[in-house]
Amino acid sequence: MPADSLEKVAEEVTGCPKCKLSRTRKNAVPGEGQLAAKIMFVGEAPGRSEDDKGRPFVGAAGKILDEMLAKAGIQRSQVFITNVVKCRPPNNRVPEDDEVAACMPYLERQVALIRPRIICILGRTAYSSLLGGGSITANRGKIIEKGGQRYFLTIHPAAAIYNRSMLALLEADLKKLAKEVGCTEGWNERSLEDFM
Ligand code: SF4
Repeated sequence: MPADSLEKVAEEVTGCPKCKLSRTRKNAVPGEGQLAAKIMFVGEAPGRSEDDKGRPFVGAAGKILDEMLAKAGIQRSQVFITNVVKCRPPNNRVPEDDEVAACMPYLERQVALIRPRIICILGRTAYSSLLGGGSITANRGKIIEKGGQRYFLTIHPAAAIYNRSMLALLEADLKKLAKEVGCTEGWNERSLEDFM
């Protein structure tokens, strides 16, 4: 069996018929970024612009994310950006449980291939889908470890479109995330014996 790859996942997502969102999407949106990404950003679902272009975070929320990444000093080349579901739900409704369940294996394969230092969860849907969490506003800025993977929690950039006070929170969180990833620089490549 050929080895898995990000390209293979993207190809399968592009023609995926596994849930009802396949019937209403224009373009599936597998995600974008480097195999060597240190950070994976996981949002809720593609919106209208993403559905039009087949690319993640290219609309208003994407513009905010780009600005905040730049302010935090995080390069696009250091990250991989995707969503819990890869196809746009009609009228941008929240993805339903059966859609999340059908799509989750794609995200799991992307995580297994990239092996990011940390997964940055953007918003409540990603938080509940990946970690079974509730309120993101009550938990933003926190780091959680589960199954050997580290997660960082923050708000979805779309929240800042309608409530500009959220911009400062997102900026503070992404700066903290950047520091966290920078602080662990080098440690992941070394074994425990190096420090004994
Ligand atoms: S949302 Fe995921 S599971 Fe559903 S059709 Fe799109 S790629 Fe397939």
